[in-house]
Amino acid sequence: MLPGICEIADHAIFLDLDGTIVELVDHPDAVRVGPQTLHLLQALLSSTGEALAVISGREIGVIDRLLYPLVVPVAGVHGLQRRDARGTVYSKETSDLVPLVDVLENLLGKEPGVFIERKRGGMAVHYRLRPDLEQHCRDAVHLVMGKHPDLRLIRGKMVFELTQKGADKGDVISAFLREPPFRGRTPIFAGDDLTDEAGFSAVNALGGITIKVGASQTEARFRAESPAQLRDWLCRVAGEACQELVR
Ligand SMILES: [Mg+2]
Repeated sequence: MLPGICEIADHAIFLDLDGTIVELVDHPDAVRVGPQTLHLLQALLSSTGEALAVISGREIGVIDRLLYPLVVPVAGVHGLQRRDARGTVYSKETSDLVPLVDVLENLLGKEPGVFIERKRGGMAVHYRLRPDLEQHCRDAVHLVMGKHPDLRLIRGKMVFELTQKGADKGDVISAFLREPPFRGRTPIFAGDDLTDEAGFSAVNALGGITIKVGASQTEARFRAESPAQLRDWLCRVAGEACQELVR
C-alpha cells in the first residue's frame, strides 16, 4: 500500500534507480530510462524545489548517462560516491580492485549468461540469465572476498555484489539532508533491494516515508508492487507539474 498524497513541497525525495523507478532487465547495460520517466523526475524536481536525489549502486557517470540530459544530485556505488546539489563530488578513497576482478573473470568469465560488472570500489556478478549457477557464483565471490578485508558482500536480485566498506545508502541520504535544498524537509525514500534497507532505516528514524518496490521482507513502511506503480504514485504526488509534462 502506498501513502496518501502528501504536500510534496515540504518533502525531499530519494530514489533508487534499477528495480525502483525503472524495471530490472537481464543485463544492466540494457537498462534505458524512458522519456516519460525523465519527465516525471523533472516534475518532481520542480515540485520539491530541486530536492530530489538518485541513490544507486551504479557509478555516478553511468547514472548521468542513463538520465541524460537531466543532471540531478546523486549518490553512486551504494554511497561511496556522492554529488551534492551544487555539483560538488565526494568520493571515498578506494583501492585498486582490478586484480580481484580478474580473479572473478578467470573463475566465471567463460560462463555464458554470467556478467561481471566492474565499478569504482567494487564489482558485481550478475547471473539473472543463469540461475542454475548461483552456487558457483557465490563460491567465486566468497573466494574473492577472502582476499580483501575491506570488502562487504551485498546480496541483490540475481546479483552478488562486492563493495568496499565505508558508506551506505542511509549515510548518504543523511548527508544530503544536512544541506540545502534538502535540509529541513521530510524525506521520502523508495528502493527495491537489500542495499536499500540501510536507507529505509535512516529515513524511518527521521520520521520520513519509506517505500519498498516488490515483495520481499523490508523495514520500509509502505510498498509498491512494481516500478510502474511507484511511478504512477510519484506522478500523482508531483501534481500539476507531472500532468502537464506527461500530457
Ligand atoms: Mg535497485
